[in-house]
Amino acid sequence: MIWRAVGFFGFQVAGGLCGWLVLPVQPDKGALAGVVAFGLAWFMADTFRGARLLRWVRAGDVAQPAPTSGLWGEIAERVRRLVRARERMTSDSQDRLNDFLGALQASPNGVVLLDAQGRIEWFNHTASQHFGLDARRDLQQYLGNLVRDPGFAAYLAGRDYSHELAVPGRGSTALRPVSLSIQLHPYGEGRLLLLSRDVTALEQAEAMRRDFVANVSHEIRTPLTVLSGFVETLQTLTLSETERERYLGTMALQAQRMQTLVNDLLMLSRLEGSPPPGLADWVSMPIMMAQLEREARELSAVLCAKAGRIQNIVFASQGQCELSGSASELLSAASNLVTNAVRYTSLNGEVHVGVETLLDGSVEFSVRDTGPGIAPEHIPRLTERFYRVDRSRSRDTGGTGLGLAIVKHVVQRHGAELTIASTPGQGSRFSIIFPLERVRQLG
Ligand code: ADP
Repeated sequence: MIWRAVGFFGFQVAGGLCGWLVLPVQPDKGALAGVVAFGLAWFMADTFRGARLLRWVRAGDVAQPAPTSGLWGEIAERVRRLVRARERMTSDSQDRLNDFLGALQASPNGVVLLDAQGRIEWFNHTASQHFGLDARRDLQQYLGNLVRDPGFAAYLAGRDYSHELAVPGRGSTALRPVSLSIQLHPYGEGRLLLLSRDVTALEQAEAMRRDFVANVSHEIRTPLTVLSGFVETLQTLTLSETERERYLGTMALQAQRMQTLVNDLLMLSRLEGSPPPGLADWVSMPIMMAQLEREARELSAVLCAKAGRIQNIVFASQGQCELSGSASELLSAASNLVTNAVRYTSLNGEVHVGVETLLDGSVEFSVRDTGPGIAPEHIPRLTERFYRVDRSRSRDTGGTGLGLAIVKHVVQRHGAELTIASTPGQGSRFSIIFPLERVRQLG
């Protein structure tokens, strides 16, 4: 600043001197004119530099070097540094904001930020899926106008956000219900944070658990009622030896039924709770087939004797291979398919069990029968627990309704594939295809 003042006065003195030299006749006037002329020139030059600086500032491009030097240059440099520092701060804040928004975007829950009037300020991708929001269309819209559920409207207006609210999700139908759990959290000055969670799977699991408990109780109650009825009869009535024998026989049957049910339940819970079998243990197919054949013939003999039926049981091949996996699980799955075929196949029917190596080296275990067959609408549900097409036939032949659920689990755990094909009135074919990596040919 001092140098500027010194420079200005020096310039004036130089102006005075020049005027004095140019007009030696009237040196006073010459000096004055020189001072005024040099002062004007200084002013013009200074204004010009100031104007250039103003243009540079207005352009806002601080990356360009300052257009002038001296005082104006220093001002420009200071402005440049200040703007640079501000830009860095803004960019840091923007980066941090982007990080936050990125984290919210990555959240598995839906997040919607609402202003004090309930208008949408921001939402993440999950929220847009939950509520069908569109970033271009719905920002600054009232959320209450977009989520038309009456329960939500009451929740939003009620201002008591201490609990979660269940609302149907977008595209929810009676056949494919979608359930959302949402909660509002106040923050800032009257703003609201809305969190939404898809609880469809959770609710389905809970419904399944309830159904399962109800089914198990029902399955156990029937034989239990019969058993306790007979116990009471045996305790209160004097019975003949033949009657006693008959009653005890029925009681044994009911006890056996409960035992089978409990065994199947335990098997299912083992299958669900243990890691899948590895590839290290090998199960001999010929040994398993021999055991299955023995069981099938025994069961068929019992059922045929009871109903006067004759069944043709054919074990076409012994399957000269080994499968890697759990011997008990594989036997249980195969045995369920074979016993089902025997149990459901009618008079003069045929049950055909086979093992075949397919072209790609995988192995197919199949059970074909000429039983009643299954209508197409039942087939996708057969592997559900306690799902039965023909309840009375299932119970009469000692079924628990869990056989195919066990088969499904075993098949999944061995990386295999279960296929069910059936024509009502003609019969059914159940097959399990084991992948190549679980097969070892014998001999
Ligand atoms: P269940 O103990 O009742 O046999 P499963 O889970 O083994 O239970 O089978 C489910 C239902 O599938 C059975 O109740 C039956 O209605 C039907 N089903 C299974 N196998 C056959 C078959 N080979 N032929 C006809 N229906 C079958």
